[in-house]
Amino acid sequence: MDSSCIFCRIIRGESEAERVYEDEKVLVIRDINPQAPTHLLVLPKKHVASADHVGEDSGIWSDLMKAAAKVARDMGLPEQGYRLVVNCGRRAGQTVPHLHVHLLAGRPFRWPPG
Ligand code: 5GP
Ligand code: ZN
Repeated sequence: MDSSCIFCRIIRGESEAERVYEDEKVLVIRDINPQAPTHLLVLPKKHVASADHVGEDSGIWSDLMKAAAKVARDMGLPEQGYRLVVNCGRRAGQTVPHLHVHLLAGRPFRWPPG
């Protein structure tokens, strides 16, 4: 827990967010500034600053990806397709230093990404 971290504050219920799914290890919320009709953030409850800070033997990726796929399935997203994105570091677009997977759906997505 990092008390200056907005996602840690949301996880602890000290700041508001629209909570979509929760289990022991993961919280899924709606992004406050959506970039697609569906834009969710999949957060580990443990504070980890970025993808570069995930320990090699932690199950964190598996926890995040399982939760993302479950929420996508429960929302009927696999038929239309969805995109999972992790920005690592400021130059790649990371603005909140608490690891998160973006789950985007509801519009076509181009490749390569911007
Ligand atoms: P990043 O740019 O770090 O990959 O993604 C951070 C995301 O968090 C952004 O899409 C931004 O809109 C979202 N975000 C930032 N602050 C808040 C907040 O207080 N609540 C919610 N729900 N989303 C936030
Ligand atoms: Zn945090």
